[in-house]
This record gives sequence, C-alpha cells and structure tokens, in this order.
Amino acid sequence: MTGVVRHRGDYTWEGVDLLAYKQEPGSHFKDVTRQVLSAGAPDLFAELRYFEVAPGGHSTLERHEHVHLVVIGRGAGHCLVGAEVRAVTALDAVVVPPLTWHQFRATGAEPLGFFCVVASERDRPQLPTAADLEALSSEPAVKAFIRV
Ligand code: MN
Repeated sequence: MTGVVRHRGDYTWEGVDLLAYKQEPGSHFKDVTRQVLSAGAPDLFAELRYFEVAPGGHSTLERHEHVHLVVIGRGAGHCLVGAEVRAVTALDAVVVPPLTWHQFRATGAEPLGFFCVVASERDRPQLPTAADLEALSSEPAVKAFIRV
C-alpha cells in the first residue's frame, strides 16, 4: 500500500492515470473514463475504480459472474440492473449481482461519476447476443434505455 491517494479536487487523483474505458473487443461504450485507485495494493482481493460518464454517454451493456459494488460519486443518471431502470444520484449505492445485465448512463446535464469495487480475480464480461437483446427489450422501459 502506498497510503493516501490524494484527490486533486476535480475528480482526478494524484499519480493515477486517467484512462479511456476499454473492455472486450466489440464492446460498446461512449465517453467513459476510468481511474484505478487501488493500484498501490496489487495483491488486494478487490480493486477500486472510479468511472466517469460524460453527459449523453454510457457504459457497456454487459453481464458477468463477478459482482459490482457501486457508489455514485458525482452527478446523476440512470442505471439498468437486471430488468429495472432506476435513477441514481450522488451517494446512492448500487449492487449488481452475478450474471445480471447492467449499464450506466449519464442522462442529465452533468457527468455521472461512480466508484466501483470488483474482485481482483474475475471473469470477463459477456456482451449481449441478438437473442439477449430481444429478451431485454421485452420490458419497454429497458428497451428504451439500453444503448448498444
Ligand atoms: Mn460490469
């Protein structure tokens, strides 16, 4: 551990690279950045990341065995978890259970920033097939929300 990772005051942290969010080839996202805040603890059981979605942007629609523990840090938006679309705002917490479709969107005028804890050892995200998208779209609110 290196101890304190100091916040600069603008949702970036000293010594932490601001990365474009990247995942599997073919995954689709828009205007998302990623910062790994737990890089000083590579042997820890979990990683702590901070993601920021620009207004109008979204994370990848995906699912996986590993769980996400999310705390909204900034702004407001909406998230899909399973078959439910919910509004979220700063300091709300979101649990994404195993194999549950999820997506975050910054639906307001400001960025949606969130902290996300994941297991260090984790499976790769699965992207929706055409059949998955059809199943998701059976719920009108979900159909209107998802971006792929
Ligand atoms: Mn995920």
